[in-house]
Amino acid sequence: VKKKGKNGFQYFSAELNDKLQSKIELEGDLRKAVELNELELYYQPQIRAEDERMIGIEALVRWNHPTKGVLSPGIFIPIAEETGIIYELGTWVLREACRQMRKWHLAGGPLIPVSVNLSSQQFHQPYLADYVKDILRETGLEPHFLELEITESMMMDASVSTAILNQLNEFGVRISLDDFGTGYSSLSYLKMFPIHKVKIDRSFIRDITENDNDKAIVSTIISMAQHLNMEVIAEGIETKAQLDILTDKDCEKIQGYYFSRPLSAIDVEEEFFIPGRQ
Ligand code: C2E
Ligand code: CA
Ligand code: CA
Ligand code: CA
Repeated sequence: VKKKGKNGFQYFSAELNDKLQSKIELEGDLRKAVELNELELYYQPQIRAEDERMIGIEALVRWNHPTKGVLSPGIFIPIAEETGIIYELGTWVLREACRQMRKWHLAGGPLIPVSVNLSSQQFHQPYLADYVKDILRETGLEPHFLELEITESMMMDASVSTAILNQLNEFGVRISLDDFGTGYSSLSYLKMFPIHKVKIDRSFIRDITENDNDKAIVSTIISMAQHLNMEVIAEGIETKAQLDILTDKDCEKIQGYYFSRPLSAIDVEEEFFIPGRQ
């Protein structure tokens, strides 16, 4: 409690008030951000460890805020979800990722899929599959070059999820289970749903060089995925020591700062797509 107001009115908590105020401001700004073209997609390569080739790329949204600088999705995605702005924002992300990937394909870039994160609300919106189809048609990207990243907790209502995922799968879109192992994991999901890829969460990778439990969990996820004929990728690889453990455990695919941070589209082109560079 910092000060008394004019009439001796005590603010309930200046700090809380400030927080609320800045959240309300951000919310107003966020509503305009899509229109004002302030959102930007960054892309983080997914690498095959064996030959260090890019086998996929994940789109991660950034907000170039006019006064606050670059804001990370951890700050504004929750606000977008609370306020319903996520629908418009999510549509923009999906369209932009497909547009960019199609453009790269046409320019002779590698024929790899782009991964797009979905919020729970987006996943549960009616006619998701039709709307994804429309965006693919509009941008010209073939369905198997789009991978949607969802989390385990979105699939709690199994009958709903089955319907959505089957539609997307029949259409040829790939599904990836993000942050695997951190949610309401149910192994029966993996059997029930058409899932192409499992992403081992960063929290299991962070201490993997010292922690035998993490090592065991990661091993188990890798062999389970292999037995179920799913691809498996480890996220958050930052060091050679982590990479070595994963390759030793036959995890072929890797994503993390060790290979590349998320890059702007222009930097992706410069670092990866310039002819002769890869
Ligand atoms: P995520 O989907 O789990 O994405 C991975 C996050 O880890 C990204 O943070 C990425 O920059 C970061 N990361 C990648 N490699 C490393 C590493 O080696 N070490 C460490 N410490 N971090 C690494 P980012 O871009 O800040 O995104 C945070 C979260 O925001 C994402 O987590 C995702 O849940 C959400 N998000 C991002 N873009 C979108 C979007 O377009 N739509 C929705 N709905 N959510 C998004
Ligand atoms: Ca993700
Ligand atoms: Ca993740
Ligand atoms: Ca996440």
